[in-house]
Amino acid sequence: MYDFQKGSVRFIRGGRYPHSHTVVIDDERRALIDAASDKEKLLAFDRERPVDLLITSHAHEDHLMFNHLFAHAQFLAHEADAEAFGNSRTLVLQYAPSEEEHPVWEEFLIRDCNFVPRYPDRLLKDGDLIDFGHTQAQVIHTPGHTPGHCAFHFLEEKILFLADLDLVKAGPYYADVTSSLNDTIRSLERIRSIEVETFLTSHGKGIYDGDPAHIDRYLETISCREASLLEFLSTGPKTLAEIVARGIIYGPPKSIGAWDLSLSEKGMMIKHLERLTGSDMLLMENGRYHVIE
Ligand SMILES: [Zn+2]
Ligand SMILES: [Zn+2]
Repeated sequence: MYDFQKGSVRFIRGGRYPHSHTVVIDDERRALIDAASDKEKLLAFDRERPVDLLITSHAHEDHLMFNHLFAHAQFLAHEADAEAFGNSRTLVLQYAPSEEEHPVWEEFLIRDCNFVPRYPDRLLKDGDLIDFGHTQAQVIHTPGHTPGHCAFHFLEEKILFLADLDLVKAGPYYADVTSSLNDTIRSLERIRSIEVETFLTSHGKGIYDGDPAHIDRYLETISCREASLLEFLSTGPKTLAEIVARGIIYGPPKSIGAWDLSLSEKGMMIKHLERLTGSDMLLMENGRYHVIE
């Protein structure tokens, strides 16, 4: 049933978008973090003894897929993402869809990802301890991917669940209107200093030893993207459309369901352009980005 187990912390893989891996806590208070992996396994766990706490690391559709099956559990999420859990419109708007894409996204959320508006019963803050009985987890607020993204540190078990700071080869994701590149970097630097034996993540391999080199490698993808962008701009001033078409992050345009990856490419390139303009490395003139020599 489980892909990893230590103390009362367990892990179920199933994190291929629009799903994500689930952390299960089998303690006095039973809990799920990100009920979006394997529906049958999650229901079997609930049938044994009902889930008390339903925790969601952040407001993205691939982390709440099966939340609707746990209406009886107390729902916990960070306050900065609370609005997006309560309203599909708020959630969709953070992807900056065009007029035509808007209803497609809304339908995808409701029909394919079982989105049911639900405001958290308990709002999480950085440093909060969640008490499961014997096991405790500390909330590490790690904004950037979304404003309310959280990691969870199981102190006794020396496990850090990183959610969508997911250590995949492609690198971190910060394409939403509400994402922040600088916060993503700060959050990664912060979790790098937490000593643990195991990292668990929401997608990809999901289980890693606690070597901070995994975080360094993940952080490096950000500087690689930035270097590629600067190199491209060094060949001459470019418009945003030309930069997006270059496909520095995702390569040639493609889609995953309702998700047009050029929208993500654009969202992330905007974050890099803002950062480089802010640090006086680029200048925007007549709709084109220039490198400042
Ligand atoms: Zn996410
Ligand atoms: Zn995710």
